[in-house]
Amino acid sequence: MDIALARAWVQAIAVAVDEQKDYLTQLDSAIGDADHGSNMHRGFTAAVAAVAALEPASVGDVLTKTGTTLVSSVGGASGPLYGSVFRSMGKALDAPTADPEQFVAALAAGLESVKRLGAATPGDKTMIDAYTPALAAFQRSVGAASDFGAAAEAAADAAETGMRETTPMQARKGRASYLGARSVGHQDPGATSTALIFRTLAETVN
Ligand code: ADP
Ligand code: MG
Ligand code: MG
Repeated sequence: MDIALARAWVQAIAVAVDEQKDYLTQLDSAIGDADHGSNMHRGFTAAVAAVAALEPASVGDVLTKTGTTLVSSVGGASGPLYGSVFRSMGKALDAPTADPEQFVAALAAGLESVKRLGAATPGDKTMIDAYTPALAAFQRSVGAASDFGAAAEAAADAAETGMRETTPMQARKGRASYLGARSVGHQDPGATSTALIFRTLAETVN
């Protein structure tokens, strides 16, 4: 991962979110307040503009700017949550390039921070349910000395599996938890956007 790739990733997330905005909002209308697509769209559109105006000295500068922009531009829960992910990743990547091991460590720091902030654990029907298996797959692949592209691909596949596995779960965090048992049978919007972010990484790298 280098600065150009980090920028390309953030831009590609914005494009993917733009394409999937209505779908994300539709998922959120079933178990939330029907704004996840517009929240993600507002946040990543602002992040692209902020990153374009930046002269980054490190991969982390790009990701930290993305995180702070998400926090300041998104009103919903996903703003501070994804904001903390990108800020923590940014903090961990303070050089112009990052090798696969460093990138995986940054991904792990991102997951830790969102768990600390949101107090969710696997099975609560949140973004964590896509992120946790994605990180594990990334770690396995990098540990097995697969190239970065293959590792990102494995992580995206695992994120999508985790995303689908949120459907039968009952939500225990966020707005969807207010529905109790009625949250069962719907795919979690945040797990869906997390899978999108990992798929976009794989597509950007490969
Ligand atoms: P809001 O719920 O404020 O309208 P969004 O609709 O943008 O915000 O985001 C909802 C998503 O945020 C959920 O689908 C879930 O994945 C995620 N989420 C909510 N609360 C938490 C939490 N405490 N920890 C992790 N993820 C959470
Ligand atoms: Mg919402
Ligand atoms: Mg909302």
